[in-house]
Amino acid sequence: MRQRIVAGNWKMNKTLNEAVDVAVGLTQFQDEFPTNVKVIIAPPSLYLANLEMMETLNCSLASQNCSHHDYGAFTGEISAAMLHAMSIEYCIVGHSERRQYFGETDHMLQMKVDACLRNKVNPIFCIGEQLAERQAGKHFEVVANQLKNGIFHLPQDLFAHVIVAYEPVWAIGTGVTATNAQAEEMHAFIRQTISSAYNKDIADGISILYGGSVSAINSAELFACPNVDGGLVGGASLKAKDFAHIIISAA
Ligand code: PEP
Repeated sequence: MRQRIVAGNWKMNKTLNEAVDVAVGLTQFQDEFPTNVKVIIAPPSLYLANLEMMETLNCSLASQNCSHHDYGAFTGEISAAMLHAMSIEYCIVGHSERRQYFGETDHMLQMKVDACLRNKVNPIFCIGEQLAERQAGKHFEVVANQLKNGIFHLPQDLFAHVIVAYEPVWAIGTGVTATNAQAEEMHAFIRQTISSAYNKDIADGISILYGGSVSAINSAELFACPNVDGGLVGGASLKAKDFAHIIISAA
């Protein structure tokens, strides 16, 4: 059965002390965290080692990115092999900011997904359309292509380790959230597309997270949609109280 998941993407925010403050702040709500919700935090990679304390909260850690290479002369990069050696279980791959600002192509993302899986790191694979693509009625086509080009090359056993995050680009960091109906419609489409590429069992077992201005106010309704299995949360994951509320609302 698929898992309920709430993942926090801290992006390039917080000094180490501030990051630890958020983590400590979350501990105050620890007793209220639902046992059926997996919590994942993706801090700046520099802090991954410092935030091992999160494991006492039953939180897993994720990197926000990785190289498609395992080792070598690639200045500034970190690899999935290194993440695995540090027991980091997850890595966000293909966040729209990586696609947009760092020119990450579908082909590159496919190689990053492969790098994660060969190193036993579970990719949180992000997809989502731009505003103009939705306005032109191309959002389903865009998302289907991102799935096909990024992860549909995987054999079934590896595909089962992928978490999909649908993040409409127009909703990320804008305060504009997809309506519950828009989120559910796209998540159902994603699940159907996976079912066609693989089979119904695989599609039913994959967690599909919604991302894009999720807040303590809108999370419960979004997460109640039948095909929404939780969220990938940016801004609101930087505030312990809000993030804890979002986690609790995913039960
Ligand atoms: C994100 O960066 O993945 C995200 C969804 O950001 P926000 O929640 O701030 O829109």
